[in-house]
Parts: sequence; structure tokens; C-alpha cells
Amino acid sequence: MGKCMIIGCGGVASVAIHKCCQNSEVFEGIMIASRTKSKCDALKEKLQPTTKTVIETAQVNADNVDELIALINSYKPDVVLNLALPYQDLTIMDACLATKTHYVDTANYEPLDTAKFEYKWQWAYREKFEQAGITALLGSGFDPGVTGVFSAYAMKHEFDEINYIDILDCNGGDHGYPFATNFNPEINIREVSAKGSYIEDGKWVETEPMEIKRVYNFKGVGEKDMYLLHHEELESLALNIKGIKRIRFFMTFGQSYLTHLKCLENVGMTSIEPIMYEGKEIVPLQFLKAVLPDPASLGPRTVGKTNIGCIFRGKKDGKDKNYYLYNICDHQECYKEVGSQAISYTTGVPAMIGAMMIMTGTWKKAGVYNIEEFDPDQFMEALNKWGLPWEEDFDPTLVD
Ligand code: NDP
Repeated sequence: MGKCMIIGCGGVASVAIHKCCQNSEVFEGIMIASRTKSKCDALKEKLQPTTKTVIETAQVNADNVDELIALINSYKPDVVLNLALPYQDLTIMDACLATKTHYVDTANYEPLDTAKFEYKWQWAYREKFEQAGITALLGSGFDPGVTGVFSAYAMKHEFDEINYIDILDCNGGDHGYPFATNFNPEINIREVSAKGSYIEDGKWVETEPMEIKRVYNFKGVGEKDMYLLHHEELESLALNIKGIKRIRFFMTFGQSYLTHLKCLENVGMTSIEPIMYEGKEIVPLQFLKAVLPDPASLGPRTVGKTNIGCIFRGKKDGKDKNYYLYNICDHQECYKEVGSQAISYTTGVPAMIGAMMIMTGTWKKAGVYNIEEFDPDQFMEALNKWGLPWEEDFDPTLVD
């Protein structure tokens, strides 16, 4: 069918690459291009004997638009799948524009120095992508990603209007370390140490970090504490889903994680302000990342399950209706299949599916779009086929 260039070769990329290789009919060729080429080569060596997908590798600095353009021109992919970090979104989008190549990512742009993620930078590319006749699919991970597909599916099949959405992200996994993050520590800590927020009646309501706590009994996991966080898909879903009055995002955290984080925060280790140390400028949060366990190393040690989904409340045929769509994923099963824990798995699988939707022409419209703006049906089918089956509950326990 075609060729895909994957930028980045970290936790999420590794899963997406495994999945592309399982799906050789669509992904005839992939190029793994990242900052550290040895990681790309190691993955190629492991996977090439197992797949018909032809794997190539390259070194690239994705902060450099000219380097990206040269690489895209030499490989000529149908789509670029950005699985580097949110800081590279705009340079990669610029390179896609210059080469008229479709673009897919899993996280919205965030400037390195402000720790504030929002869609305005990427939405500003709408006209340019329309004029170039190419698609940018934003946020094709799990959250954002599957949560948007679930919302589009609920809107299409279950509701006339959706008034409330609560996105619940539960990780019941245990890696045995007192403190470690399940994906890129810098991104993860920036996310959870920021103020919380949700959207009510079209306006953002801000909370202190971790101010709003609820307890929820998750199927497959059990009872967990969860906290309201700011999350990027709230911004796009509030605009794209008809009738929304309130939308919130909750993520589970154990007490040990929070106590460690508080302590690290109190001593200044989570700061993104550069400081001078022995004549060299360092960013405390980046230094912390260097001393924490590599998320990729957590795979073999993590046991338990994740449960991520959306509870919808709205109206169907004039009556009130509640509906919960979720996926349960087992850390050890993921590790057996692709050598990664469930957090990378639940992001890498939808990343591959998003690229597939664009490559096959199933999703085809020029411009910059969030995932819920496309027809969800074939993506939902693909989730069942490629390892993230979903379940539904028509009488869920609600979050107050
Ligand atoms: P990792 O840190 O494990 O991987 C990032 C990769 O990008 C690394 O291989 C890194 O190279 C590479 N990279 C970083 N900077 C550059 C650069 N300038 N040029 C080229 N390559 C670069 O992160 P994850 O795999 O955990 O996360 C990947 C993305 O997925 C992030 O954007 C994250 O926010 C997003 N995500 C989305 C989720 C969702 O559900 N939507 C959930 C989890 C993550 P090197 O190997 O040299 O470090």
C-alpha cells in the first residue's frame, strides 16, 4: 500500500513500529528516523527477520526543518508519523508542508520554555495544509486519540447530544520502583505538576494541581484514587462534540507516586527553569529524567492492567442516557507481544492505526484535524483487530 516515516524511536514509537511490521499489507515500507540512530538500527535488526515490511533507518534532528525536508525528499513517504516529543511538532509540520506529505502525531505542540500545551499553534496551520492538499491528523494516541474516537462513536451511534464527558485514565500497573514514570518523565511530570482544569459552559475552570480527587472502581483493576488534570483533548472535544456542558479528565495516581512528586517539587527538581551547575546550564527536570528509570526498562517488571475510557451523559430520543466506553489492557500481555508495557502499547497501537487511516485513504480531507473530526467506525474496528478491544457499559457508575 505505501511507506511511512516514523520520527522518534522511544517507548511509543517502538510499539507503533512493531504494529506496522505486523501490518505489512498497509505498511510496505517504514523508515525509522530518530536522534539516536543506534536505537533505530537495533529495532530494525530485531524486526526485519519477522516481517515483509521493508525497514530503513536514518539519523535526524527533528528540530531542524531543512534536515527533515531532505530526509522526506529522499525517502518519499506517504505519511510522516511523529512519535518524537511535542516540541518537534511544528518543525515536522513545516517539513510536511514543504514536501506535501501527510502528518500524524500523538501529542500537541508545547513550547520548551512554557510547559503549557494547547492546540492554537497547530490549528494555525489549517489553511496552509488545506492549500497544500494534505492532512494533519492531531492526537492519534490513546488520550488524546482513542478518547476522541470514542467520543465521535458515541455521538454517531448512541446520542443525539452529549452534555457531559468524564475521561478516566487508570493505570493499575505496578513496576516495583518507589518512583518512576510510565512514559517520558519530562512530559509526564510537566503534565501532573501543572494546574488542573476542565471546561464548563464553554469556559476553562482552573484548579490547583491535584486539588480534585475522586475514588472510582475500575473494571479489571479495582478501586483507585484519581485526580482531575488538565488534558489537551478537552480543548478540541469541547468544540467538536455537540451539546457539551462539561468535560473533565481524571488520572489515577498511587500515594507513593504523589509523595515522591511533592518532595521533588518542594526541592526544585521538577522546575523547567535552567540553573547554573558547576559552570554549566542545566534544567532540573531534564536532570531528574536522567536519574530516573528509563520508561522502556519498566516493561518486564510491570504487572497489572490499565483501564482508559470515557463516560458520556446526554440525550437520546428525548431521554437521558449514560454510556461508558473503555479499553482494558494488560501490561504483561503487551510485554509478551511487543516488549513494552501497556502505557506505550495503548499509545503506539492507535498511532499505527491513525497512520493507516491516512495511508489507505479511509480518512481523507485536506487541512488540520483532531481525531474526533473523522468518521470513527473503521478506527473502532481496527482497535478490536490490532490489540485494543473496547467494551461498553450502558449503566456505568458516574463520577460526582
Ligand atoms: P520517548 O522519550 O521514549 O521517545 C522520544 C523519542 O524521540 C526518542 O527516541 C528521542 O530520541 C526522539 N527525539 C527526541 N527529540 C528528538 C529530536 N530533536 N530529533 C529526533 N528525534 C528526537 O517518549 P515516548 O515514546 O514516551 O513519547 C513519544 C510521544 O508520545 C510524546 O510526544 C508523548 O507526549 C506522546 N504520548 C502520547 C500519549 C497519548 O496517549 N496520546 C501517551 C504517551 C505519550 P533519543 O532516543 O535520542 O532520546
